[in-house]
Amino acid sequence: MKNMKGTAHHHKISAMDFLIAMIILSLTKSQMIGPITASSSEQTVYDFSLVWMTDTQHYLAHYPSTYYNMTSWIVNKRGEMKIQYVIHTGDIVDTATDDHQWKNANDSMSVLDNVNVPYGVLGGNHDEQDGFQNFNKYFGAQRFQVRTYYHADNDGNHYDLITSNGVNFVIVYLSYGIDSSERTWASEVFRTYGDRIGILAVHNYINSSGNYAGNGSDLNNDLVAPNRNVWLVLCGHVHGAHLNVRNAGSRTYYELLSDYQDLKNGGKGYQKILNFDMTHNTVHVRTYLLYSTNMVALVTNMTNSIWNCHLPQVQFQPSPLKIEPTYLPIRS
Ligand SMILES: [Zn+2]
Repeated sequence: MKNMKGTAHHHKISAMDFLIAMIILSLTKSQMIGPITASSSEQTVYDFSLVWMTDTQHYLAHYPSTYYNMTSWIVNKRGEMKIQYVIHTGDIVDTATDDHQWKNANDSMSVLDNVNVPYGVLGGNHDEQDGFQNFNKYFGAQRFQVRTYYHADNDGNHYDLITSNGVNFVIVYLSYGIDSSERTWASEVFRTYGDRIGILAVHNYINSSGNYAGNGSDLNNDLVAPNRNVWLVLCGHVHGAHLNVRNAGSRTYYELLSDYQDLKNGGKGYQKILNFDMTHNTVHVRTYLLYSTNMVALVTNMTNSIWNCHLPQVQFQPSPLKIEPTYLPIRS
């Protein structure tokens, strides 16, 4: 299926984009010290942020300090940037059978655990080469069961219930190899929490042209399009970055791909920050490039400028949950 719409807010390279590019270039060349802050004409005032990382696999195989620096940067910036939650869309490691890579991943994510930054992860195809044995050992239910926001099924999938600034989210994580029963389970979760903004985190969904990849089309047809509260789909797996803006009836939802695994040094520590601007009902998705623990640059990533995704108005009134969390069945 082709895109219903192409990239939203596509604009030509502005003078500011050029300036930022030149600053980054000079930073790279001169090893200048210090962060670059956003100063573009894009809205930079926001109420809170979510961080989105994915496909960290090559860091763990070759550059584990980059991953460690990424989570350390999140911790260092969580006050200033109002970071409330972190999403990882899979391929945590490159080789699922390599215990050393999982230990490095554990070290990096423990940086978040140590200061109680909530996060969710899912398993990608590289995490499942051993049947998710190590994934479950390091990032399975026992790691998260102390977290009140975490709710697992028995198949490497889970959902998180998060509230930030009065906005309620249900974030469903489906690990690689999603069958129809898992789509049904996820659909049930989104329906149960229909008064929350829904985010679907999967590993493989669209490619860098915006076309559905893997079983992305099934996911869209069975899960994303029919559930009216699903507002955002996040995926990795395919190197590239893309934004699809889609409509189902009067509702708009967004499909985002972000994956920098094939860049130099395992991806250069790129991660995306979703800045929620409640005044304008808009989320600005910005891309940051990491240099070291405290040095990052806002960049216009590969082919995209800042992505703007508009939040559904109706979801802004927080309402109490209608159904008890225990309603959801645990699948065997
Ligand atoms: Zn993958």
